[in-house]
Amino acid sequence: MIRAPSGHADLVLTGGTLVTISGEWPRTAVAVKDGLIAAIGRPELMPPGGETLDLSGLHIIPGVVDAHVHFREPGMSSKEGFEAGSGAAALGGVTCVLDMPNTMPPTDTVERLSAKKDGIAGRSWVDYGCYGLLTGENLGELAGLHAAGVVGVKCFMGQSESGPGCPLPPGDGVLLEAMAVLARLGLRLAVHAENHDIMSHRIGQYRAAGAAGMWAHTSSRPPIAEVEAIQRAGLFAMHAGCKIHILHVSSAQATEAVVAQRAHGVDMTAETCPHYLLFAEPSQLSMRVNPPIRTSADSQALASALRDGYLDLVSSDHAPHQEAEKDAASIWDVRAGLTGVQHMLQLLLDRRASFGLSLTDIVRLTSYQPARVWGLWPRKGDVVLGGDADFTVVDLNRPWAVTREGIYSRSQWSPYLGWRGHGAPVATIIGGQIVAREGRLIGSPRGRWICRGRSGQVGESAIAVTEDP
Ligand SMILES: [Zn+2]
Repeated sequence: MIRAPSGHADLVLTGGTLVTISGEWPRTAVAVKDGLIAAIGRPELMPPGGETLDLSGLHIIPGVVDAHVHFREPGMSSKEGFEAGSGAAALGGVTCVLDMPNTMPPTDTVERLSAKKDGIAGRSWVDYGCYGLLTGENLGELAGLHAAGVVGVKCFMGQSESGPGCPLPPGDGVLLEAMAVLARLGLRLAVHAENHDIMSHRIGQYRAAGAAGMWAHTSSRPPIAEVEAIQRAGLFAMHAGCKIHILHVSSAQATEAVVAQRAHGVDMTAETCPHYLLFAEPSQLSMRVNPPIRTSADSQALASALRDGYLDLVSSDHAPHQEAEKDAASIWDVRAGLTGVQHMLQLLLDRRASFGLSLTDIVRLTSYQPARVWGLWPRKGDVVLGGDADFTVVDLNRPWAVTREGIYSRSQWSPYLGWRGHGAPVATIIGGQIVAREGRLIGSPRGRWICRGRSGQVGESAIAVTEDP
């Protein structure tokens, strides 16, 4: 029993099984006071509470942190926008999102970060943090972006595709210098690791030859492009002493490259995404995503790496487009990116046995590690006294089906349309407030801006939360 010194609780979650990275704890209650966790222990020992939620038969996990979403603001709200994206997140059991900076304009200066924050304020259903973007021209902005509270900085080593919202990679000289700057600041660099020259050379060849199917897309971005970028990023990071994170690892070879860089002493974390686990060699052009979805052997290797801890976390890489942008006769006219923030958790819950993952593993991969990697733990990603009262309540037996009507994103297309399974979030609680329950949003958007703190002492929260962004 851990308990705050005195007083009444605002909310008590009781009757459920609490799950943390250390195990499953049946009949364990949690009390909330002023948005924070005030007591954890046996139900009969909880302080008297204002509201009691009986969660018998359900599991309570630390609020899910999706560390990789593209809500497309500013400049591309026609594809999503923060209200729709964060509403989908809350319905999917996600309590905090970290939003990517490849918007229009990109989040590459302090001024643009501040404008983005102002634009989002009061419109997010879930807590949110932002990445800054590294370009070829903004080395001088990195310290300011850090001071303004970005959780990390993102860099495209290869252009995702040619089109709006797809920045060109900085040169190696800028990348190496940026890593030295970020090392001094203590900020982690998130890398889209694909070799730009290999891809543009092959894309040029396939397009010239008139190849326009999924095969041409997949072959133009082979695992060697991913592996080379991971090795180069690792080499630079080692030299600069910079912490780096490899986004959306898609292949067995890339996973091995991550493991090898770590063995060399590089502080390298890495993620994969549900679509790389759940699909293999898709033929529909709408499944275009970067890096591409590979073989079932790759999917199996990724699941094993998640189970064994070689990959640190699962993120959705929620990257919506308008439905028409996903539908074209040529692969080169289909915009790359898939949605996933609303369905990531239920997909993992349903498939956990086939992936060899326990519920404790899912907590590690979707709550604890995303919070650790991006400097938000222990305030987020765990159930600790004084931490944010963010919880996802799940029913492991709840049947679900993905339907157009159930999708909260602006686009009603999803790679998972028609999929069915068991195990789903039934309540999303953020800062002690019930934000979603039984598939419905409750109240109004009250998500808070989360910025990485500048202290980082052990046992103390490394983040600051402000009510007023
Ligand atoms: Zn992305």
